Amino acid sequence: MNAPAPDQTRDENCLFCKIVAGEIPAQIVHTSDHSVAFRDVNPQAPTHVLVVPKGHYPNAGAIAQQAPSMAADLITTARDVAAQEGLDNGYRLVFNTGEDAGQTVFHVHLHLLGGRPLEWPPG
Ligand code: 5GP
Ligand code: ZN
Repeated sequence: MNAPAPDQTRDENCLFCKIVAGEIPAQIVHTSDHSVAFRDVNPQAPTHVLVVPKGHYPNAGAIAQQAPSMAADLITTARDVAAQEGLDNGYRLVFNTGEDAGQTVFHVHLHLLGGRPLEWPPG
């Protein structure tokens, strides 16, 4: 059900491609036509969900350039999850991009954080 459509790219060595395909378990909280949302295994806030596209794109800039409607789908899916989680007081969306930002999984993922006041600037 979560498998990417045949025209979507997949990286055989990618952790999040395997989660999308159901080959590695994850606590999935929401799916849309193009995205899957699941809880981060190491949560940094009471709600910490990762929203990923079903197809493989390495980062936010790449998906925005190659598949802008799918980039938008990440954000609307995050909005829907925030509503589902009752984050009426606000939430934060983050795309870490590259080593200096701490990106460790090179399948683009939108962090949705909420459920407590969040400090700014981030570390
Ligand atoms: P990044 O540092 O690339 O922005 O975020 C990667 C996120 O993926 C981290 O917050 C990390 O906790 C999460 N993560 C890494 N491996 C797994 C996993 O196997 N399952 C889940 N649900 N999250 C993971
Ligand atoms: Zn991937």
